[in-house]
Amino acid sequence: MHAIDATTTDGRRWGARLAAVVGAGALLCTGQALSGDAAQAAECPAPIRTVLDTTPATAERTVALTFDDGPLPQNTPDVLDVLRANGVKATFFVRGDQAAAHPDLVQRIVDEGHAIGNHTWSHPDLSQLTPAARTAQIERATQTVVDAVGTEPCFFRGPFGIHHDPAIAGLAWERGMTVADWSLDTRDWSTPASWSPSFQQQIIDRATSPRSAHPIVLMHDGGGYRQNTVAALDDVISYYASRGYTFTDPAGRAFPSGSGHSGTYVVQPGDTLSSIAAGYSATWQEIYQANRATIGPDPNMLQVGQRLTIPGAGGGSGGGGGGGGTPAPPASESTTYVVQPGDTLGSIASGYGATWREIYEANRATIGPNPNVIQVGQRLTIPGTGGGSGGGGGGTPAPPASGSTAYVVQPGDTLGSIASGYSATWREIYEANRATIGPNPNLIQVGQQLTIPAG
Ligand SMILES: [Zn+2]
Repeated sequence: MHAIDATTTDGRRWGARLAAVVGAGALLCTGQALSGDAAQAAECPAPIRTVLDTTPATAERTVALTFDDGPLPQNTPDVLDVLRANGVKATFFVRGDQAAAHPDLVQRIVDEGHAIGNHTWSHPDLSQLTPAARTAQIERATQTVVDAVGTEPCFFRGPFGIHHDPAIAGLAWERGMTVADWSLDTRDWSTPASWSPSFQQQIIDRATSPRSAHPIVLMHDGGGYRQNTVAALDDVISYYASRGYTFTDPAGRAFPSGSGHSGTYVVQPGDTLSSIAAGYSATWQEIYQANRATIGPDPNMLQVGQRLTIPGAGGGSGGGGGGGGTPAPPASESTTYVVQPGDTLGSIASGYGATWREIYEANRATIGPNPNVIQVGQRLTIPGTGGGSGGGGGGTPAPPASGSTAYVVQPGDTLGSIASGYSATWREIYEANRATIGPNPNLIQVGQQLTIPAG
């Protein structure tokens, strides 16, 4: 989807000739897979007959993440991993020739609930082709998707954004596809073919600004080296998730995962069950009941990064107690504090009439031997003010005495951003922590403890 001026409208008229064709058939929508009975095939909704550059305002804030030119084994699985880790869905505009080479990846995209778009067979400039050749490019790509996953794509995007001409857009509309342009171009296709934290930051910046309520974000999982896109994706998702955006397809539809507003939610810093419930048509009690097994007995004990099942909208209003409100505070007499991102024992103590040592002594059993390692979401008992003054003076906890340093991952961190605070490279930190991070250096967890090798 490289940068060519997309406004190539040639003034051709279209109109009545399109009207007849649409709406007739059983056009299948990816993301709603065939389940045994062919009769249950779902249809794409009627295509939106305009070229969308933003998502329709189906909610106060919506964002559609889109990935073009794949699938490609060296990038697409990584993109899918990051999306899955965040519980977020996106739309993949696949090339037919790539889909034919990697049908397993098309299947994984669909299996994990994402949408598929048609990006032609071999990525030509459609404006340079005859009408018959344009049609062949589109139909061959759709057939390849059908061969891979049994459903037709519901979206179309022309290579280089050349899809504004009604003679091109009409071909998609006639085949039940909504044409999706974009509002935010990350220009990740111009990436250096090597790891570049500065370029990753540019991708993040372009994916999130100018700020708008309904962006469609253009990124790429195909076309070459896209690991900078992979590395940027987590921060892009965090930006929108933390601002209450709903991740939709380009038509502004929530992804099916049940129906309507049900689905999976990944707990963000500062969330409570009440604040999460406010984003859905559910009460905190309903969400608690649906996740009691993973939350445990205390509804206040959410973990950042924890995945919650959101029960269906307007559903049974099942169990739970009375109406809305916030979860009841713990019934004990002691003061309890839930660790927030960025907290240290020193910063927590400063909010109470206590020293960090007093808080540490009162919570040593759960904190463990290192007072610097507290976990976001961890619940601490705050001893009464003016108490024992057990240990030494105030100040902050001493850092560990070893040659290396322990760092607890904060929201928004990447190995690159962490490394920039030390005299280390991200690779050095990765090597020192590979056993706990695993094979993908982009997948670090908030609250995870990393060893920073001595400079
Ligand atoms: Zn493209």
